[in-house]
Amino acid sequence: MTKLKSKDFRKTPNLAQLEEEILQFWEDEQVFEQSLKQRENAENFSFYDGPPFATGLPHYGHLMQSMIKDLIPRYQTMKGKYVRRVWGWDCHGLPIENLIEKGLNLKDKQAIEDFGVAAFNQACQARVLTYAKDWEKTIKRIGRFIDMKNAYKTMDKTYMESVWWVFKELYKKGLIYQSHKVMHICPRCSTPLSNFEVTQGYQEVKDLAVTAKFKLLNDDGNTYFLSWTTTAWTLPGNMFLAVNPDLDYVLVESKAKNEKYYLAKARLTEVFVDQDYQVIRTVKGQELIGLNYQPIFPYFTNLKEDLDLPIEARKLLFSVQAAQFVNLDEGTGIVHIAPAFGEDDYQLGESLLNFSQLDNHAKSKLFIQHVDFSGRFIEAVTDFAGMEVKAKDQPQATDVEIIRYLAKKDLLFAKKQITHSYPHCWRCDSPLLNYATSSWFVEVSAFKEELLKNNQAINWQPAHIKDGRFGNWLAEARDWAISRNRFWGTPLPLWQSEDGDLICVASADELEKLSGQKINNLHKEFVDEILIEKDGKIYRHLPEVLDCWFESGAMPYAQFNYPFANQELFEKNFPANFISEGQDQTRGWFYTLHVLATALSMSNDKFESSLNKANTSAFENVMCTGLIMASDGKKMSKRLNNYPEPQVILDKYGADSLRLYLLSSAAVKAETLNFEEQEVADIRRRIFLIWWNILAFYQTFADQNFDKLDLEQEKEISHVLDRWLLSRLTTLQKKLVNYLDNFDVMRATRLIAPFINDLSTWYLRLSRERFKNDDSKEASQVFASVLTVSAQLFAPIVPFFTELVYQQLNKEGKSIHLSDYPKILDFYQDKKLEAEMRELKQLVELGHAQRKSVQVPLRQPLASITFNKAASFKNNTELSAILKQELNVKEILWGQENEKDLSAVFDLELSADLEAEGTARQIVRRIQNWRKKAGLKVDDKVSAYLKTWPNQFTNMIEEKTNTQLIRAKIEGLKDQVED
Ligand SMILES: [Zn+2]
Repeated sequence: MTKLKSKDFRKTPNLAQLEEEILQFWEDEQVFEQSLKQRENAENFSFYDGPPFATGLPHYGHLMQSMIKDLIPRYQTMKGKYVRRVWGWDCHGLPIENLIEKGLNLKDKQAIEDFGVAAFNQACQARVLTYAKDWEKTIKRIGRFIDMKNAYKTMDKTYMESVWWVFKELYKKGLIYQSHKVMHICPRCSTPLSNFEVTQGYQEVKDLAVTAKFKLLNDDGNTYFLSWTTTAWTLPGNMFLAVNPDLDYVLVESKAKNEKYYLAKARLTEVFVDQDYQVIRTVKGQELIGLNYQPIFPYFTNLKEDLDLPIEARKLLFSVQAAQFVNLDEGTGIVHIAPAFGEDDYQLGESLLNFSQLDNHAKSKLFIQHVDFSGRFIEAVTDFAGMEVKAKDQPQATDVEIIRYLAKKDLLFAKKQITHSYPHCWRCDSPLLNYATSSWFVEVSAFKEELLKNNQAINWQPAHIKDGRFGNWLAEARDWAISRNRFWGTPLPLWQSEDGDLICVASADELEKLSGQKINNLHKEFVDEILIEKDGKIYRHLPEVLDCWFESGAMPYAQFNYPFANQELFEKNFPANFISEGQDQTRGWFYTLHVLATALSMSNDKFESSLNKANTSAFENVMCTGLIMASDGKKMSKRLNNYPEPQVILDKYGADSLRLYLLSSAAVKAETLNFEEQEVADIRRRIFLIWWNILAFYQTFADQNFDKLDLEQEKEISHVLDRWLLSRLTTLQKKLVNYLDNFDVMRATRLIAPFINDLSTWYLRLSRERFKNDDSKEASQVFASVLTVSAQLFAPIVPFFTELVYQQLNKEGKSIHLSDYPKILDFYQDKKLEAEMRELKQLVELGHAQRKSVQVPLRQPLASITFNKAASFKNNTELSAILKQELNVKEILWGQENEKDLSAVFDLELSADLEAEGTARQIVRRIQNWRKKAGLKVDDKVSAYLKTWPNQFTNMIEEKTNTQLIRAKIEGLKDQVED
């Protein structure tokens, strides 16, 4: 067995270097593997690792999550559970596709198709684990115990196969459907995104708001409807104007322009700011309905005359219609409607024209999509054909062109620069378009009640997320768009015949049976080639792939290739006892885990559970972390160089300091943390250097020849400080266990600093003399036991330093992480004593402050101190003795008054004896300083030449300083000790 080398604790430590040494020790001893092995048959505690995308290096957020994912499993392991810990990689989806597109200079989807899907997917696969080695290094360096060798990968065939199984189970339950809806699409990626992907990408942007004039037909030729929009590029697709029938509208005349306008009465002053106008009349919106207007752009005016189209539809085109969603919050109270570009627009278009009832021919004409899926104007929009409507680098450019066109035709009423929140692609940052398209959906709305119910059984940390951020999101749950018009992902397991029949496939085996072909790979370039022939019909594979969030949500099943393999392992680990990620995952991984588990396990009159468990979420306890920003409150940015790299921090202060800093911050309670390097430095100094000095004290003064105390056998402890320390330890442990059992990592980790402080500045300081004496057996035993037990208690939080402590005190060399978590030893807890000690500390602080104010140094003994209020321990001789010693007084007098504010008065009169004792103490201090300067060790005995000292204290001085006093006789020689 390798052993950690013994340390000389009198030297200043290099914590980072020590940690590297400990990592090597763990590796040599296979401590992680051993810790699993020794719990093989123990009770299971299941943990799921949320798969990160390996498209970049780990940042502080990842590190903090990894620290939590290390702490809780370490704790549970020490408590006797078996905690399987296997890493995962998210391999598919837009993040990696975008990287490859950039690398190969493929500027859009068409370019990928020209390049070849097979070659593109190969490039993705080759790149996907580029950073895996760097991750391994960093994750290991922070001390995390995790199996990365056997990591599951979402691109594995076994994983993808289980994703198909999940899809098919939902499909069988009737929870999967295809529909044409208005969704957000990324024009650059040419794919729809799910609503939770969209919520991740809102940014404040500048846009142009425009008020356009729509000329009323059959009138005097100078009356217009004013309509306001922030998406001028949708104007060529205009089909209707909408008014609210219940609101008041006015017709006003503009003197300057000799024109008349309709708009909502309540918006009048806002729209006509600084302009002269006269109200001609007021009407209800209802009265405007049915009025026809001249379309601004000529591209689709011929539809009105197209005899192939139903006459009712043609009559409605380019007219004013009623809509309740029209409000007075902004604009003119008249809304321009382009049914293919907005959810309200789509609903109104559908209710007027019944797109879904039209035959394909009529629908293709009437459902105007003047912009294609890649975000460019179509050929029919002759003046702008091919232009990107919202280019990523120049998002306003096209709106400017449209505005120019309006101005030229004298149809521009006003334009204005505005700032608003606009959604962008979470991967490529392009502005999204609201676009009607076809997609496959999970009908989440059908089991919203079940989602809410299963959420109630989850323990959220912090608790407010349950009914707040997560609960609200569930309550508003929309159907989930799960198909992506992309390449590198798990393909939809659907094959379709010419006449629309579908076959859903659940596994590679099933596909082999159906197609008669060997299936080695489930990626798109392979399965697109597979045809299924059934009952004389040919079924072709649908081209879309699944949302990568569907894949990560399927992780509980897919990591085990369930149900095709590992049934027992799956059942043992489902649902997870514990998961932890960033709070943004309430709309990401937490959500998709919850949706899929709820859908699969639903069991009621309508549904049967697909699992062995019914009506459950995928996890029982979840911790949400917050964001980590730079110290200036901005996002950490390489460009701004506003933060230190994690490796730099690890090298400077060690992983334990970073762990303690992050884990004790409110960021583990989903709050935002501004990273302060100084605070990591402070933790190193305030905690680890003090802890180090405690070990130095132990090494120097404690008697290490006694057996360790077996605390679990109740012992009579004689000294009050030892009894207090054991009680303090027990109380600490009870709190710590309570916090960790409830996943309150912040409160748990915050217990370390005050305990180390008490140990150092209270227990050790007061016990110094005892340790130097011969009768230090009990003190040494208690001290060693408390050092050991507290190291075990804190081991899951700061695994390196506690290992060091444990190795120093336990010569057999077994890792602390293979030890059992200490039992709570109630019989040492003495709450009364702890309360009395707290009071005593207060009195000491008060006394010291008082000494300072009367300017009598502490080493000068005084006759007495009088406290105005009697302490609860005033009859306790042991505690009174400590108080006397701490305040250096001969007597303590207690007042009777029942005062609110505590006060103290010293008797400052010095008797000859007191004065002599003060002088003796001063000499002791001078000799000790002198010894220190000369570099003498504690047991080096020397002589000191002094002219004079108080005779009655000779022994005291000689004992305390291990020095022989000699009367200096040489005339003119000064004392050979200096202050
Ligand atoms: Zn995109």
